[in-house]
Order: sequence, then structure tokens, then C-alpha cells
Amino acid sequence: MQIALQNMGEIFMKKSISKLKKELDKWFSLYIRLRSATGEGFGHCFTCGRIAHYKKLHCGHFQSRRFLATRWNESNCQVQCPACNLFGQGEQYRFGLYLDDKYGEGTSRELVILSQTTVKKTRIEYEEDISYYKAIVQNLKKEKGIE
Ligand SMILES: [Zn+2]
Repeated sequence: MQIALQNMGEIFMKKSISKLKKELDKWFSLYIRLRSATGEGFGHCFTCGRIAHYKKLHCGHFQSRRFLATRWNESNCQVQCPACNLFGQGEQYRFGLYLDDKYGEGTSRELVILSQTTVKKTRIEYEEDISYYKAIVQNLKKEKGIE
């Protein structure tokens, strides 16, 4: 009985995996949008070039975010404007071409293959990644002097 109660307690104390995913999404997205932002906080859409404040831009995924293996991959994710990300269905073709330009021929192909692999992140790995990106985001904001 006691053991059962302890286990119950642990279950309620720990954050669920879906909560951890959401939290990692949040910090990772901020990192993607801040890494290339100017001192005034502006960035440009990877697929159409539109310039906007980073808070109005999205973290766009080349391979859909439903694939966990590439969901938090720093090449797979680039800044996009809402029009390209939501209404242009990610502008995937152009996204792939520009990825090859930026990181080298074959990058988009490798990401497609990688996205199809199975990964299972542990709770600890999620928590480590969250603190990692949280720290980078805070440093980037300080460095660039933006909020
Ligand atoms: Zn765009």
C-alpha cells in the first residue's frame, strides 16, 4: 500500500512527456528565431525573405514536427513567416533547396532520411535539452540586448 502511494506521488510530481515536449518546443523555437535576429530583434523568413520581428515569426520545420527525430534539429528548423509556414504548407520544396545552399548539397535528403528514424527521448534527455536551450536563449537575448 505504501509503495503504491509512493509511486502515485512520483507520477503526479513528474511532468508528463507531452508537457516536456511542449516546453522544449517553446525554448527551441525561441532559439531558432533569436539565433539569426538582429540587435533590434528582426529576422527574415527562410523561404520568402520577408523581414519581421522575431516574435511575429515562426520556427518552421522542413520535415514535419510530427517526426521526433528531426523536430528539434537545428538544420531542419528555420525561421519562417506565418504565411509560408501555415498557408504555404511550409514551402517545403524551396525549404529543401535553400537548406542545401546553406549547409551543403544533400542536407535536405539526409534530413528526410533522418526524420524517418525512430527516437525515444527519455525524460532526463528532455529536461537536459530544455535547460540547454533555455540557457542559450537567455544568453542570446542578453548578447543582442533584445527582449
Ligand atoms: Zn515567408
